Amino acid sequence: MLDYDLHCHSSYSDGSLTPAEVVGRAAERGVKVLALTDHDDVEGLDEARAAAEQHGMSFINGVEISVTWRTHTLHIVGLGIDPLYPPLTEGLRKVRSGRGERAQKMADELAKAGIRGVLQGAYQYASNPNMISRTHFARYLVEAGHCKDVKSVFNRYLVKGKPGYVSHKWADLKDAIDWVRGSGGMAVLAHPGRYMCGRHSMGKKTMQELLAEFVAFGGQALEVVTGSHTPDQYAEFARYAEEFGLLCSCGSDFHGPGESWRDMGRLPDLPLNCRPVWESWAPAAALKVA
Ligand code: AMP
Ligand code: MN
Ligand code: MN
Ligand code: MN
Repeated sequence: MLDYDLHCHSSYSDGSLTPAEVVGRAAERGVKVLALTDHDDVEGLDEARAAAEQHGMSFINGVEISVTWRTHTLHIVGLGIDPLYPPLTEGLRKVRSGRGERAQKMADELAKAGIRGVLQGAYQYASNPNMISRTHFARYLVEAGHCKDVKSVFNRYLVKGKPGYVSHKWADLKDAIDWVRGSGGMAVLAHPGRYMCGRHSMGKKTMQELLAEFVAFGGQALEVVTGSHTPDQYAEFARYAEEFGLLCSCGSDFHGPGESWRDMGRLPDLPLNCRPVWESWAPAAALKVA
């Protein structure tokens, strides 16, 4: 079986490696089909594609769009998108445009909690300043000695109810799906096990309502195997995919060495009842791989 990794980040969003470095690492780790899925930005795709060609790897244009649905922030991965499709580029530009002001507010909130100088510190980690994100804040908070690693930052800061959290309105679910599908891509609901209600995963009823809306708007797949899911969640979301007639995707959600839930590639196989997203892809993608 080919090794697919259909979700990862470069320094064009909140990853710590350049697109070429991400691709190089994926190649070393046996990935044969890779999608780069930076948050709300497609600028890294050309560099990644060129690097993938050098490594003889199949490359899929991807993006991960930030969405607000009810009170939740969701992530919609687009696979096989056309990064030049105007409604997509314009939509992403709008989604990115609120980030600067949000970052300022986050820094103000942290200052109220006694932590100063974070805005400047966070921007030092953002090689693409338009994409300033909580991850850049987290890296700076680690550097400044407030927490031992990025994971522990997200236990103490930057999340609902903790210092530095600022609510934000991202794209509408329907718009994000329209941009992805309109550009020829496939819309995937990313890491469904990470959408929380307080300290618990989104309840079954809400998840079913979300999936019903996602399907009604044209959503096509569920990310079943991802770095932040447990094996029980692989099985749980494989069942949801079956119930809602969705294809299944897999990806590491890699952000950087030593920082992510898991490294690139070598992901567990999708559960047997899953129909993989690549089932419907032209065999050319697979045939290119020697
Ligand atoms: P933003 O789009 O600015 O809200 O930042 C969201 C990013 O923060 C996600 O894409 C993750 O990379 C990171 N993040 C969120 N929660 C956690 C967590 N619990 N542990 C590690 N990284 C997280
Ligand atoms: Mn991220
Ligand atoms: Mn995500
Ligand atoms: Mn991601």
